[in-house]
Amino acid sequence: MLSVEGLSVAYGGLAALREVTLRVGQGEFIAVVGPNGAGKTTLFKAISGTVPARAGRVEFEGQDLLGLPAARRAHLGIAHVPEGRRVFASLTVLENLEMGAWPEAGRRVLAQSLERIYALFPILAERRGQHAGTLSGGQQQMLAIGRALASRPRLLMLDEPSMGLSPVMADAIFDAVRELHRTDGMTILLVEQRVAEALDACDRGYVLETGRIVLDGPVSELSAERLRQAYLGM
Ligand code: ATP
Repeated sequence: MLSVEGLSVAYGGLAALREVTLRVGQGEFIAVVGPNGAGKTTLFKAISGTVPARAGRVEFEGQDLLGLPAARRAHLGIAHVPEGRRVFASLTVLENLEMGAWPEAGRRVLAQSLERIYALFPILAERRGQHAGTLSGGQQQMLAIGRALASRPRLLMLDEPSMGLSPVMADAIFDAVRELHRTDGMTILLVEQRVAEALDACDRGYVLETGRIVLDGPVSELSAERLRQAYLGM
């Protein structure tokens, strides 16, 4: 479904991604883990179209993405839940979800999407009339995921959804993401610093370090020892 081939991105003279190659198949749940500054957010931005690539290819369902503006990529079904959530604080929960439904596929089936989002996150149904800025961090993360779901994505990209959340709230978010994968068959690309939880939930993982993929494979092959070695750069 998604194929990233030899992708390089730089900020000015600083290389943030170096020849990254990664694949996501239809219905797969893939995690990208790695330390601070490894380039995880940059990878997502290059896929969704908010930073330009210096070299390489990104194809989504056979279509070359790199020539397309971010809005066009969203219409193709790529939803990016950014780090730090960025919900519209002064809009209500419902208005945020309605905003998420702007791509063509989302607009047609908003009522159905809302039903699914509220089933996944009942607190959003309870608070639908409340301003998003009054929600807790965990609830705002739920809303950010809900807003992405309202676009009826074919690929859901989640950038560190557990960041800044209590362990209990982070677990609730991981449970919901797992359910989306298992029950809805959603194709998910997750970036996380909580390595154990991310690898526990996904099918396959990639370890990114200083802009390069240093390890990848099915979760069963990403043993603690190999991860430690990758993290230590051995
Ligand atoms: P974190 O978990 O801290 O968000 P990350 O793995 O997502 O880290 P990126 O945010 O992609 O990493 O950053 C990769 C590298 O690119 C880092 O060295 C970072 O300092 C640099 N970088 C990121 N954004 C910019 C920018 N807008 N301008 C210049 N350098 C940047």
